[in-house]
Amino acid sequence: MTMTMNWMLETVSVHAGEEPDQRELEARGLGVPVHMAASFELPEFGPELFDALLLESPNPPHAYSRWSNPTLRALEEKISALEGAEGAVVTASGMAAISAALLTFLQSGDHLVASEVCYVGTMELMGQYLSRFGIEATLVDTADLEQVKAALKPETRMIYAETPANPVLRLADIEALAGAARQAGALLVVDSTWAGPYIQRPLALGADYVIHSMTKFLNGHGDALGGAVLGPREGIRRIRKEMLVHLGGALSPFNAWLIMRGISTYPLRMERHCRNAAALARYLEGHPKIDRVIYPGLASHPQHALAKRQMAGFGGMLTFQLKGGMQAAIKMAARLKLIKYATSLGHPQTLVFYYPTDLYIDAVEYINPQQKKGIREWMGEGIARLSVGLENIEDLVADLERALD
Ligand code: PLP
Repeated sequence: MTMTMNWMLETVSVHAGEEPDQRELEARGLGVPVHMAASFELPEFGPELFDALLLESPNPPHAYSRWSNPTLRALEEKISALEGAEGAVVTASGMAAISAALLTFLQSGDHLVASEVCYVGTMELMGQYLSRFGIEATLVDTADLEQVKAALKPETRMIYAETPANPVLRLADIEALAGAARQAGALLVVDSTWAGPYIQRPLALGADYVIHSMTKFLNGHGDALGGAVLGPREGIRRIRKEMLVHLGGALSPFNAWLIMRGISTYPLRMERHCRNAAALARYLEGHPKIDRVIYPGLASHPQHALAKRQMAGFGGMLTFQLKGGMQAAIKMAARLKLIKYATSLGHPQTLVFYYPTDLYIDAVEYINPQQKKGIREWMGEGIARLSVGLENIEDLVADLERALD
């Protein structure tokens, strides 16, 4: 926009140079630009305007960034292509993706069967808060198909599984769960954050929707929260129209841009995450101060055969039990120099986080004593969770060696 229009300074400061689309076309930049615009000039009165405002088609014109935005749409296209999904909706965080999917497809009177061990925020949402909306959740070991089938009711509308499950690395057989869901007339939703599309393709195995916290391996740099739900075009359109717009968990375009950039090196990074994690798993399994290592790539993992069948790699996450329990874990964390004591995962840096079983499982009220006993068999008194980063493996082993000495 030129300044020949005789505008006053206030008008010029608002409008000059603000015709972005033409400039972008001329620039022919190779990267996707960050569109920070909150609002977009609307199509003239007619069907396109209604589409923009009411989100009737899968790719409506942009109206407002809580509905859609060009940078977000670029990320949605990228992540859909990675997962082999018809469509995606990206969200402000993994939890925003989970809550939007649950509240789109479940309503008062519906029943949900879900993993009894998964990311703690998801467990709390299902165990403590969904009942406020009249949605009943039965938490079971989704690794055990019989438990899942036994929990199904005529009102069951969804089976929800996280595999591998945070933090215990229990797996669920996606193909088998998809069969059970189909028979029950329910949707299968899989949180595949810990594996990611480099390793696991839930939609190809029969899941209806896949969820990611893109905060983790997909972004991979630990500098942006983000989430996504992927699945059939019409269901994705419903999530956006019914819940994302109304719950308001829209992703920032800047975070979308960071995640886009992160994803371009995702396969390379995953190769290294997996290689380093496998090496650390083997090292820790042979260490005299370690009781048990849980990593899907180890023959000692109770579901190693399933891991080989449904995963194309074993991921960057592992957990282990220390002889000496929590006291030993506290000492180890204090002595680590390279490995950081921190929550989250999928960062370039290796991170460790400790879960004492009594606080994490025994203290919660929404799982029964029998379930707690089963989880304790996996966790012992507590587990240290390692998100294995991209460092040189020899430096990581040396850091653990010193800390465990
Ligand atoms: N799903 C899994 C498996 C996770 O591990 C996490 C976080 O750790 C989430 C969802 C939540 O993601 P966010 O922190 O992006 O909301």
